[in-house]
Amino acid sequence: MAQKLVRASDGKETKPAQSVKKAAEPVKKAAEETAKKPAEAAKKADSEVQKVVKKPQQNMVEAKPTKGSSIGYRIGAFALWALAITCEVFAIMALLKNFVIRFSKGNAQTNILLTIILFVVLDLAFAIIAAQLWKKANRIKPMSEKNKFLFYLWNELGVIMAAICFIPLIILLLKSDKLDKKTKIIATIVAIVAMLITGAASADYNPISAEQKEEAEAQLEGVTVYWTPGGHKYHLKVDTDENTQDGCYYLRRSNTVVYGDVDEAIESGKTSLCSYCAAHFAEELGLDISKMNVEGAEPAADENAGNNENQENNQDEGGAENGGEENK
Ligand SMILES: [Zn+2]
Repeated sequence: MAQKLVRASDGKETKPAQSVKKAAEPVKKAAEETAKKPAEAAKKADSEVQKVVKKPQQNMVEAKPTKGSSIGYRIGAFALWALAITCEVFAIMALLKNFVIRFSKGNAQTNILLTIILFVVLDLAFAIIAAQLWKKANRIKPMSEKNKFLFYLWNELGVIMAAICFIPLIILLLKSDKLDKKTKIIATIVAIVAMLITGAASADYNPISAEQKEEAEAQLEGVTVYWTPGGHKYHLKVDTDENTQDGCYYLRRSNTVVYGDVDEAIESGKTSLCSYCAAHFAEELGLDISKMNVEGAEPAADENAGNNENQENNQDEGGAENGGEENK
């Protein structure tokens, strides 16, 4: 299977030569200083590339530092939630026949239904994007878990907002006497489904606390970690080359492996240490994992690891529907 390494933040594929630029830089600098043997320096850089790119087909991508502050993401989230609620208000106005877009000249009920559906879809889109910004902000600056209840509310704000963005409309739809029966049923079902999708896509299934992030940063200072674009864990070791298979089982099957420091991993949503890596590589790195956020129980065998890998791959598809699967 062809593997590729991708930069963490944008998921764009990078050519191996690019991803190794960083490693090659010191070599190049030395060459510039002496300004004598650029060709040799380039050769050296090539050999560095070989070291970073473990497998010819696997894309290894360097993580980009996160842009923007947690406050910026939070402001964006609230702005989008405000837009979502505005769309809900427009849907309610359509239901009350105060604002109906004339999609067709004929049937008034059809126009009401289409107007409601249009604003429900916009409501859903704004609310889901808002929740993703909120989750991103919580990776950059997590909340303390000292107060478990507040920690839960804070991380699941997206679910609460999903309820606010749809429940008033759903209640009014159920109570409405201005719609005929068929229109009422269709509009209500659309609104309920939209709420469920928004809630599932907005929930934070892998929250991290300020304490856990601090612990991970302290333990893994200066250590390169690895992750797959679709997973929610970071890993400690990637195969040295195709034949040794001395790295983490999970990484082996991924086309793309992103590497960076643990900060970058967490900010990309990789909030916990892989249990396989915790069991097999933590000791050689001298890590104390007792206080770290380690994903799940230790897999007993590679077969288990394989199953977990599949779970992680499922998440690659993203979206609301599969979000619930990873609940433990
Ligand atoms: Zn691992």
